[in-house]
Amino acid sequence: MAEQARGKVEVNQDECKGCGLCVESCPPKGLTLSPELNHYGVHPAQYHAEICTGCGICYFVCPEPGAITVYRLAVAKSEVSDAATV
Ligand code: SF4
Ligand code: SF4
Repeated sequence: MAEQARGKVEVNQDECKGCGLCVESCPPKGLTLSPELNHYGVHPAQYHAEICTGCGICYFVCPEPGAITVYRLAVAKSEVSDAATV
């Protein structure tokens, strides 16, 4: 059974420089490089699957401020009862 996404990512493709660090770093492989070119002439990152965990790794590895934003989604209490607390 597919696990419900616990996070959501938005890539500002106008700020992305297409370095691919976020793509390589995402544990569940939820990011990829778009086949399209942006105004810098590079392939920007895009979120392609609803499998984000909200870990924030892509945000921390991205060298471009404002290129990537991570949201943590609210999860029903019954689903977080087994989750580790940070
Ligand atoms: S927050 Fe984590 S799981 Fe979500 S896209 Fe970024 S690296 Fe991947
Ligand atoms: S790490 Fe940042 S600049 Fe590099 S591809 Fe991902 S969003 Fe774009």
